[in-house]
Amino acid sequence: MITLDLSLPDTRYPIHIGRDLLDDANLILPHLPQRKVAIVTNTTVAPLYLARLQGALEAAGVAVLPIVLPDGEAYKTWDTLNLIFDALLSSRAERKTTLIALGGGVIGDMTGFAAACYQRGAPFIQVPTTLLAQVDSSVGGKTAINHPKGKNMIGAFYQPRAVIADMTLLDTLPQRELSAGLAEVIKYGLLGDADFLAWLEANMARLVARDHDALAHAVRRSCEMKADIVAQDEKESGVRALLNLGHTFGHAIEAGLGFGAWLHGEAVGAGMMLAAALSHELGWIDAAALARTERLIAAAGLPTRAPDLGVDAWLEHMSHDKKVESGRLRFVLLKALGQAAIVDDVAPEALQRVLAGPYI
Ligand code: NAD
Ligand code: MG
Repeated sequence: MITLDLSLPDTRYPIHIGRDLLDDANLILPHLPQRKVAIVTNTTVAPLYLARLQGALEAAGVAVLPIVLPDGEAYKTWDTLNLIFDALLSSRAERKTTLIALGGGVIGDMTGFAAACYQRGAPFIQVPTTLLAQVDSSVGGKTAINHPKGKNMIGAFYQPRAVIADMTLLDTLPQRELSAGLAEVIKYGLLGDADFLAWLEANMARLVARDHDALAHAVRRSCEMKADIVAQDEKESGVRALLNLGHTFGHAIEAGLGFGAWLHGEAVGAGMMLAAALSHELGWIDAAALARTERLIAAAGLPTRAPDLGVDAWLEHMSHDKKVESGRLRFVLLKALGQAAIVDDVAPEALQRVLAGPYI
């Protein structure tokens, strides 16, 4: 096991990365103000992993309230959030009851927001069970639910007390979900670490085959980079926006096709390809770099071609992205492989050429 330390102005917390961590109550016990927890999970993850985590905690003398929610992004709603509050209040959970999120990003985001709200703030621990949650959503403190008018529109910044990323939990993850998580891993290499990018090129086959050591390295480097960026800019007023590489195009794909048709990571994969193509169009990266990007995204089992939404729909959906600032389209583009920059004055003709180009 390795442990990273995420240090923020108001808090710091450990991110443990390794195998068979689910059975180690000692990773959780130091963070509990009271030997009482609620484990929030869903109907898919509960039969796989709830008994193990619950058993380890109960053996250590911790009272456990399991809260099992329906599975899916469609349930990341106010109504489901209320099910968490109903269960906590019915069992007379106090403010010192710790909420443990056992699941992917949907469970993590909802549980974090529930913890932020319950009695004005209950302790919260993340046990991410998808690769995406291990490298992205469990780290950094963004929590939210969806509103019918927009994804993640109701939420809070609320940091966990610990993150426990167990590589062995990824053994049961559907392959498509694994690839979706790899999109965010590739994103970190492209945006800020050329050496890591080269490591990913050399090790993508091991990652796709779920080699635990390779996964642990990828999760570690991804979390280090996210932690570093979040530590510089917790509330996204500057450099945190780099984490949106591929996401402006990706968001348009998700919205254009209807949310759920493509997984978020799949849309980010094709979105990073378009961001790379636009960077090439602007003369920042050469054709060889563009080809390397394409090979890596394809090797992760991700799409390298975006669906054809039509230029008007592309522009319309991209302008609705949360990252739009005062009406201007803002892109995260590549100055080089391993070096991203935020750009808000892209020539419309360059964008048009990409939207009419070979990656769509
Ligand atoms: P998810 O939580 O829906 O999980 C994907 C699927 O895998 C689900 O069906 C889930 O039940 C199942 N699953 C989870 N773990 C499993 C396991 N170990 N074995 C088998 N099946 C398993 O999706 P996700 O990709 O983890 O997260 C997406 C969510 O994360 C979105 O709601 C997104 O908005 C959010 N997100 C948040 C942040 C943030 O910073 N807070 C960042 C990125 C994404
Ligand atoms: Mg993302």
